[in-house]
Amino acid sequence: MPTIALLGRVTVTARVNVRQGAPNKQAAVLRKLDAGAVVDVQGLAVGEAVQGNAHWYRLEGDAYIWAGACGPLQGAQTPAATPAASTGNGAEFDGFGLTAEFAGKLSQLFAACRQHGLEFRISQGLRTPRTQALYYCQWAERSPADIDAKIKMLNDAGAPWTAAVLERFRDTPRKPAWQTNALPGAGWHQWGEAADCYCYRGGKMVESGSDPAYKTYADLARELGLTPGYYFKKQDSGHVQLRPAGGATDIYAWSHIDSVMSARFAEKPSVV
Ligand SMILES: [Zn+2]
Repeated sequence: MPTIALLGRVTVTARVNVRQGAPNKQAAVLRKLDAGAVVDVQGLAVGEAVQGNAHWYRLEGDAYIWAGACGPLQGAQTPAATPAASTGNGAEFDGFGLTAEFAGKLSQLFAACRQHGLEFRISQGLRTPRTQALYYCQWAERSPADIDAKIKMLNDAGAPWTAAVLERFRDTPRKPAWQTNALPGAGWHQWGEAADCYCYRGGKMVESGSDPAYKTYADLARELGLTPGYYFKKQDSGHVQLRPAGGATDIYAWSHIDSVMSARFAEKPSVV
């Protein structure tokens, strides 16, 4: 995705969605800006054309707003040469919807792995609550009655939006393979603070999570203050996350999670 680094400020002229990770209408909605809001811009990207205009402004934290909903760029200046990705600015993860802090650390982790002769590639970063709900419901050992109990728990806990997301996948066809124990919103993937990465050797993915490469990756992640899934009770060797807490429910109430998730991901009419 071509992005020109550019520092400046724009005034929003029409209510607009702030999109996470990519300059297009498929990207998840982080929040909305009302007409009159003034935002700092970090770059100009060419993305999805909307009403004939394919320009999007890049904001802090790998977020984008459509330039057609903004006034002219004020006080524009070209920043000093952008540091290479290996210094940990996270630019190599553009499009994966990670927060800037986490993307920077992951970039450092990949660089440390390279110093150990290991090539890691990211497979998944941001995962929407809908996808998380699908993964949660797909497991053959999770019955519709189990899902109903979770829906009730969420509604009782003040998380009706999350409950409704889960309900949509209650009867989805099941698969034998376990994928997750995290309800939508509970996993750090929904916050842009987790990634699933795999080691590649001779161009081929190393599929065994018990390969020593994943232990090295996990130990280097810990040195950077990240939390690797390799040491989870249910080992998840490719997973790495920003925070030590196992999930968002360890530190946030469901009502808070529900309000953040619905603000970011609920479908909204008539805005780009
Ligand atoms: Zn993961």
